[in-house]
Amino acid sequence: MKVLVADDSVIDRHILESSLRKWSYETVTACDGIEAWELLQRPDAPRLAVLDWMMPGLTGVEICQRLRREIHNDYTYVLLLTSRSEREDLVEGMDSGADDYIRKPFDNHELEVRLRAGRRIVELQAELVAAREALRVQATTDPLTRIWNRGSITEILEKEIHRARRERSYLGVVLVDLDHFKTVNDTHGHLAGDAVLHEAVRRMQACMRPYDSIGRYGGEEFLIVLPGCDAGATVEHAERLRIALSSEAMNLAESGVILTASFGCTVVAPDAQPTFEQVVHCADEALYKAKDSGRNAVGLVTPLVALAQSR
Ligand SMILES: [Mg+2]
Repeated sequence: MKVLVADDSVIDRHILESSLRKWSYETVTACDGIEAWELLQRPDAPRLAVLDWMMPGLTGVEICQRLRREIHNDYTYVLLLTSRSEREDLVEGMDSGADDYIRKPFDNHELEVRLRAGRRIVELQAELVAAREALRVQATTDPLTRIWNRGSITEILEKEIHRARRERSYLGVVLVDLDHFKTVNDTHGHLAGDAVLHEAVRRMQACMRPYDSIGRYGGEEFLIVLPGCDAGATVEHAERLRIALSSEAMNLAESGVILTASFGCTVVAPDAQPTFEQVVHCADEALYKAKDSGRNAVGLVTPLVALAQSR
């Protein structure tokens, strides 16, 4: 674990550094408060800091106050070094947000024990953050395909509708349904079906821009949100996806399967103010048109203009 050692005394810095290295800590040193504060703001900053109280530039207590006020994503455990022993000073030090303190001249064993406690807190905090992140991923993504789940893509579409209205820009929406997907499951088994879903998502994602969004809307249904796309661009985009899916067979066990999909496109125009339900309804209608025309096709329905484009 990386530890910041900040002390303006060369001798103390040296003693601390060599002790910490002996205990297998990686050390980063600062010789005044300003340098320490700079190091603590970096993205790869040490999460364990041994800060001398009295330093030029910024005191250890002032650094603590800034840390607690300004840095919220990762916790930094602070061990204050103090040569003061007055009780009220220590209260001030702990009030600033320091986690622990140690008096100078320090006892090496005591320092080692205190650092170990700090290290444990930092590690526990990292575990908590990782667990929270895992929960967030679990709650927002589809476990099979790793794209947004229905709840998330719905939320994204709602936000993008609002954004399009505010910025008076176009928004393209595509509802995708894999054709005869049930046959894949029935003929090749559900594992093959899962593999097909994976591959379909991979191919569609490869055609998307970084700011487009795709989510699993139902079993074999996907919802794609295309900011800035008018009707023409949305249909063009869907056509690219259609070709990406159908142009090459997907390898399933011994055989290759050509998988096609139907695409229902709709668009939110800058002068239209459709609700979320209206947008999804139009995409749904467009999807039915594409299916009606024989599948492996792209349909378009806009709230204002009803026009179907299919192959
Ligand atoms: Mg000092």
